[in-house]
Amino acid sequence: MEDLFGGNIEEKEDSSRFFADVIIPVPIPKMFTYKIPKNFRDEIGIGFRVIVQFGKKKVLTGVIAKVHQKPPAAYEAKPILDLLDNHATVNPLQIRFWAWMAEYYCCNIGDVMNAALPSGLKLSSESKIQVNPTFDQDTSPYPLDDREETLLQALANKGELSYEDCESVLGIKSIHPIIKSLVIKEAILVFEQVKEKYSPKVESRIRLSKAFFTDKKKLEKLFHELSSKPKQEEVLLKYLQEVPVYRQPELNSRGLEKSVFSEAGLSASSLKTLIKNGVLEEYKLIISRFQEAAPSKEEITLSEYQEKALVKIKEELQEKNTLLLHGITGSGKTEIYITLIKEALASGSQVLMLLPEIALTTHMVGRLRQVFGSSMGVYHSKYSDNERVEVWNGVLSGKLSFVLGVRSSIFLPFDSLGLVIVDEEHESSFKQFDPAPRFQARDAAIMLAWLHQAKTILGSATPSFESFYNARTQKYGYVALDRRYGEAQLPEYILSDILVDKKKNLLKLDFTRLLRESIQEALKNQEQVLIFQNRRGYSPYISCEDCGWIPECEHCDVSLTYHQFNEEMRCHYCGFKEKVPKTCPACGSNKLSAVGLGTERIEESLSLLFPEARVARMDLDTTRSKFGYQRLLEEFGSGNVDILVGTQMITKGLDFDRVTVVGVMDADRILFFPDFRAGERAFQQITQVAGRAGRREKKGKVIIQTRKPEQQIFHQIIQGDYKNFYLQEMGDRQRFFYPPFVKIIKIVTRHKDYKVAERAARNLHHLMEDIPVKKILLGPEKGLIGKIKNQFIFETIAKLDKSGNAPAQFKQAINELINELQSHKDFRSVRFLIDVDPY
Ligand code: ADP
Ligand code: ZN
Ligand code: ZN
Repeated sequence: MEDLFGGNIEEKEDSSRFFADVIIPVPIPKMFTYKIPKNFRDEIGIGFRVIVQFGKKKVLTGVIAKVHQKPPAAYEAKPILDLLDNHATVNPLQIRFWAWMAEYYCCNIGDVMNAALPSGLKLSSESKIQVNPTFDQDTSPYPLDDREETLLQALANKGELSYEDCESVLGIKSIHPIIKSLVIKEAILVFEQVKEKYSPKVESRIRLSKAFFTDKKKLEKLFHELSSKPKQEEVLLKYLQEVPVYRQPELNSRGLEKSVFSEAGLSASSLKTLIKNGVLEEYKLIISRFQEAAPSKEEITLSEYQEKALVKIKEELQEKNTLLLHGITGSGKTEIYITLIKEALASGSQVLMLLPEIALTTHMVGRLRQVFGSSMGVYHSKYSDNERVEVWNGVLSGKLSFVLGVRSSIFLPFDSLGLVIVDEEHESSFKQFDPAPRFQARDAAIMLAWLHQAKTILGSATPSFESFYNARTQKYGYVALDRRYGEAQLPEYILSDILVDKKKNLLKLDFTRLLRESIQEALKNQEQVLIFQNRRGYSPYISCEDCGWIPECEHCDVSLTYHQFNEEMRCHYCGFKEKVPKTCPACGSNKLSAVGLGTERIEESLSLLFPEARVARMDLDTTRSKFGYQRLLEEFGSGNVDILVGTQMITKGLDFDRVTVVGVMDADRILFFPDFRAGERAFQQITQVAGRAGRREKKGKVIIQTRKPEQQIFHQIIQGDYKNFYLQEMGDRQRFFYPPFVKIIKIVTRHKDYKVAERAARNLHHLMEDIPVKKILLGPEKGLIGKIKNQFIFETIAKLDKSGNAPAQFKQAINELINELQSHKDFRSVRFLIDVDPY
């Protein structure tokens, strides 16, 4: 591992090539050495995927990290069972990146591999296997042998099989060569776990065979022949009527859905005959979720202001590797990115652009698609595994040199990145919580760019304090855009005091008079409204008015959230749900009432207050399906919705013409949260959601409902005074030792027995005190939520001096301490989890 991280992976491979160090996707802190069988010796190389046995039973896909001739000292090396690739699927830079990530985020390189490779590239004994819906045995250029056919038949009958089922179907062990061959023949698909069954939409399509399409005479002759076969003639005429091949040759290549013929009542057997005789062709088309927009002809020219910023960005990037583009909402950062991306691509580099998950379905994708067409890959977390493998292979083959993706797209097999863009860099969703690697994609992207000698641009209207600090200390370049594009002005902010309205009896269903009147006015002018509340469900909890009883989750230390639409109470941590009781289980009273405000309740109130308005809600519950988010946005964009209520989902990247009013229901809730980043986050969320208002000619209005209008932060938000807000908060962070002045590492201890969890956490804490680096240790304390999914949680926070290698030393030491503790029989089943730079 050490020599791996040292970066000499690319050294010349050994000519003897007997052994290989293999990364396997298991949480074990080292690599294993396997013997390379003779028949692979000349083919195998770094980054090739192999099948290996691990333990007694497991068969896994591993990735070769190194080829050498040193047998392992501690064990007898097992042979590699099979080679899956004839080219490297993972490149040496990626392996260095994985090693860096494992070290920095205190996890195993196998965890990183697991996160990095789409399941479709990882065959294992836990894999599920399915028939590829696009596979057609009759037209496949690769014939199947008997065993393959048997297996396919079984799969077709059962839908899906596990690796072991496949073995029993064929009655043999070690079926990987057969599976591999079927994968190559594109006959089957392999999933590690078919968690989400999003198979791509596949359509059967019909098109005219090329001979008839290119030769007019031939077609005429055909019609002549068909005059005695009216049914076939009808089918062909239908095709030509729908796809006028003479005028628009490109239409033919797109063909026609097969269903069109049956829907028109035409003969299926005639269609079959035409296909059999080679007049028409049937083929399968995988429908992409984004319409393949052709690059648009209309060129956008940067405004003078944008042009200036562009020049400055390039200047700064001469000296700095990373640059913060601090551009207010609506300042036109996208067009600047586009220019930079075009230039990077033209110089032969690859480009990666990261977006938070939600923003990936907004106008940004459409806009970039217009410019880059199908040469741009999109990597979304809601994609099926096939789709991800497609993007992976697209990058590998060089077909895709630009990818727009969520945080996991940093793992794609780039080999010559020139530019990395992280838009909305302040977004907390760039941080992965569980499982390991618990990486921050923005930070990891900067490391990735460094490995490629590429430049990184971080863009935001409300930069993270970390990035702003790095810009102010000259570590990053800095360019500001503080004017909106075109005529658009920043919205007007108004604070609306909830308590004052309440006193005067003007608060109706949680809306102040000002907010209600503003909404009314917008509706009258046929404008649109966004209402922001960062809490889904109907109300945070239900409570008994007589005895104060509050229903809690059986498995977690939290109250259950009330969801009215199905009269259920749900735990947002473990998914536990329960029907709402008719009477209080504690005192028998029937006075159970919903307390607090969730998006469902606000939606209901809006319908009562504005019966004529069309109200929709956007939160986790309404956007679970693959296209849920996109569909809602389309509805809103097309004007079918007047008021959209939502969680932080509505704060991200929306760019609609007619939004003039934005309401923040309960700003205090965002602000008073026990976390050192609460202020920063409140500033970001409120500014971002406000930025959705008035993005065109008409000035927008933002109404912030609060019980404490005197809070200084509100006034700083209103004045867009990010800098003073930052300076003030930074004073606190420095005084109380918080990032970016120190590095934080959180160590979480979990166990189903409270006592054991507590004791393990204490022990670890004591041991950590002796680690010889400068540090402050806090805890161990019960987690903010003391129990999740029946596991009790204790946390220790370590604050480390950033200078020198204290953090690295500390990380190495805790890994050792944890191993030591876990070897103790009392703590064998305790789970320790390390979170570096936690959120
Ligand atoms: P940001 O990402 O900085 O919030 P956008 O890139 O979404 O801002 O730009 C705001 C609006 O201004 C968008 O509707 C965009 O199409 C438009 N816009 C920005 N720059 C130009 C330009 N040079 N020419 C025409 N329209 C532009
Ligand atoms: Zn009660
Ligand atoms: Zn729970």
